[in-house]
Amino acid sequence: MTRMFGGCLCGAVRYETHNAPLNMRVCHCTLCQKAIGAAFNARALFRIEDVSISGDVATFPSSEDLVRGFCPRCGATVFSRPSSASIMGLTAGSLDDPSAFAPDMHFWTASKQLWVKLDDGLPQYPEAPPPA
Ligand SMILES: [Zn+2]
Ligand SMILES: [Zn+2]
Repeated sequence: MTRMFGGCLCGAVRYETHNAPLNMRVCHCTLCQKAIGAAFNARALFRIEDVSISGDVATFPSSEDLVRGFCPRCGATVFSRPSSASIMGLTAGSLDDPSAFAPDMHFWTASKQLWVKLDDGLPQYPEAPPPA
């Protein structure tokens, strides 16, 4: 069983996972770029019941179906969570051991930043990936 540990920049928000991720994907949409302040959002997707979060998390609804969770003290984005499904994506940058992150897909590549060159051979989707 894969367990992952992570948290925000200041350490006030911590999490651990209790099961393997459903997938690990990189989203290049503009909302992720703005929310994280980075060129893309690499995130590991989990069932909500497989993630334990401690500490005070603030949330922001960046779209109708998606809430972003971040530390109100240091501002680090820790997760994104759709309201229509019991899943949450943990940001790869918040992992204690980022080497545990192994992406399997890029999506929303239509809004990918131009300097980002994808040569890892992974599937790419210009918008949302097809449902699994
Ligand atoms: Zn923090
Ligand atoms: Zn996105």
